[in-house]
Amino acid sequence: MKRILCISTGGTFNKVYNPIKGLLEIDRDSRALDEINRKWQSNLEWISIIGKDSLEMTWNDREVLLATIAQSTHHAIMIIHGTDTMELTAAYLADANLQQSIVLAGAMVPYSIDPVEASVNLGAAYGYLQATKEPGISIAMNGIILPYDRLTKDREAGRFDVRNEQLTPGPSLKV
Ligand code: GLU
Repeated sequence: MKRILCISTGGTFNKVYNPIKGLLEIDRDSRALDEINRKWQSNLEWISIIGKDSLEMTWNDREVLLATIAQSTHHAIMIIHGTDTMELTAAYLADANLQQSIVLAGAMVPYSIDPVEASVNLGAAYGYLQATKEPGISIAMNGIILPYDRLTKDREAGRFDVRNEQLTPGPSLKV
């Protein structure tokens, strides 16, 4: 089995309801990952950093993420990340020309409310990383795993889908 490091950065994946404040907030301890790992018996190595909704992530946070990846001895890395700026972080990491296989995944429904989406997205990213030998940055969401620049969040549909421009026929195909 390949060693895979999961870096949890926060996002809705990790949100839990705070009954005192009456709102959802990020669980920086990522009990979601702990629970998935225990029930799944996956021996996933994971750490929690940043702990933010991705709309609140700063460039400094992304630098911290990059440094964490660069210092890691793992060749396969999964990043749990909020979906709103997942593509931005993926593009930032791609600029660094890292030699690891890296997959970003998250969930639009908190694991604490309904674990299905979070667990399936994490499992897809994990399976992809076990199988691939290619370095690069990918996104695993809604059953699609592609290089980060081929997927985008469709905010109306509330899911990730293949970027439209990839499907548009080039000039030579137009009648
Ligand atoms: N604003 C949230 C975030 O990007 C969106 C929900 C999510 O994580 O999917 O963290």
